[in-house]
Amino acid sequence: MEKDCIFCQIAQGQTDTKLLYQTDTLVVFKDINPHAPVHLLLVPKKHIRSVNDLTDADREILAELTMVAKEMAREHDVAESGYKLLFNVEKGGGQLVFHLHMHLLGGR
Ligand code: AMP
Ligand code: ZN
Repeated sequence: MEKDCIFCQIAQGQTDTKLLYQTDTLVVFKDINPHAPVHLLLVPKKHIRSVNDLTDADREILAELTMVAKEMAREHDVAESGYKLLFNVEKGGGQLVFHLHMHLLGGR
């Protein structure tokens, strides 16, 4: 838990953000500024700054992000029509919140 990190605070249930789903490892919630009809964020509870900071110990987290994304796509009815899974990495990659997260975008 990183002080002043909004995604740590959300993942720890310290905000009024509605969690759509959670496991021991991650939480899922709607993006506050959606870029598609379905725009979810999948956020590990562990504070990791970006893809650049992943280590071998984080392999399970990455696998779970992808498997939960697949389930969320199905639940939100975009599995068949299709969707994007996206990591923005650092400022030049469009990252604004420096706590690793996967975007799930679909329904356009
Ligand atoms: P990125 O540019 O990949 O860092 O994406 C950060 C995303 O987090 C943006 O799409 C924001 O709209 C979203 N976001 C920032 N703060 C919140 C929040 N409190 N609740 C939900 N989504 C947020
Ligand atoms: Zn954090």
